[in-house]
Amino acid sequence: MAAPLGEFDLIARYFTRPVPAGRGDIALAVGDDCALLDPSPGEQWAVSTDTLVESVHFLPSVDPAALGHKALAVNLSDLAACGAEPRCFFLALALPKVDEAVLEAFSGGMFALADAHRCVLAGGDTTRSAQGVVITVTVMGRVPRGQALLRSGAQPGDDVWVSGMLGDAAFGLALRQGGAPVPADARAAVERLERPQPQIGLGVALRGVATAAIDVSDGLLGDLGHILERSAVGARVEWNRVPRSDALRRQAEADQRRFALAGGDDYELLFTAPAGRRGEVERAAAGAGMAVTCIGAVTTTGRLELVDADGRAMDTAPRAFDHFRP
Ligand code: ADP
Ligand code: MG
Repeated sequence: MAAPLGEFDLIARYFTRPVPAGRGDIALAVGDDCALLDPSPGEQWAVSTDTLVESVHFLPSVDPAALGHKALAVNLSDLAACGAEPRCFFLALALPKVDEAVLEAFSGGMFALADAHRCVLAGGDTTRSAQGVVITVTVMGRVPRGQALLRSGAQPGDDVWVSGMLGDAAFGLALRQGGAPVPADARAAVERLERPQPQIGLGVALRGVATAAIDVSDGLLGDLGHILERSAVGARVEWNRVPRSDALRRQAEADQRRFALAGGDDYELLFTAPAGRRGEVERAAAGAGMAVTCIGAVTTTGRLELVDADGRAMDTAPRAFDHFRP
């Protein structure tokens, strides 16, 4: 049997690639003590970090290619929520052991998504973990100076919008955890859980149109709550307008609410825009190839209200996932 791969050979084999031609912004990538980045004047770099921990964020049985995709996707989603274009990323890996088949699939899944978004792996760190895999990715993206979408800009009278469909990832997780074979009509939900698509094109298209934005990582109500808090406003959301897939609509009403309102991992964009700019929002979304749905309005109440089809108040209690709360 071949000797196990050492740390430096592992980095060289799975995580070192030449910087593509024409990428003067990445002056130096993997291989030295630091990467050297060379942003252009007039732009700001948006930077974000997310960690995935085995048995907390993913099951040990996960497909390693999907894991590589997701570790980068959740970070790219933060760039999307800022309206930033991906430029490069850093990867810190802690592994209990070296399994080359796993590394091959993991790096393949990760680089396929990275290449689709022209995001260059510029550095990282590789260590042994005592227990379980831990993956930390830091992404950097560019945005023209002053044009980043923030959580803090929502104004009373704005519409509240969301891209795509909500709740499928949480539905997919419930199916996976149920252990039974996933029915054919729900496979797309599991795919949403395992291979989320960051809404980069939409985020960029919404610059100068959206007043505030966030990506839905922890659940609609919780993430909308972050916009309301940072913007010091309230909102009224109509449950019957919350976009759900046909497969989710076939589930019990209580499950639909739980998954679409408080379920995480959808990585859609949730944003606000002035009611007078609906046409621009729709053109931006069409240009990015995404469906967007207006689900409510920003109010002056300071509270998040959820109403049913008859305008009756609904419970907003189970809001979102929190790592340190039961
Ligand atoms: P240092 O000793 O300075 O921490 P390392 O020996 O950890 O440097 O890493 C050597 C080079 O390989 C550095 O350029 C670092 O950014 C890069 N690197 C280490 N691990 C990874 C990884 N998992 N993915 C990408 N680059 C990595
Ligand atoms: Mg190191």
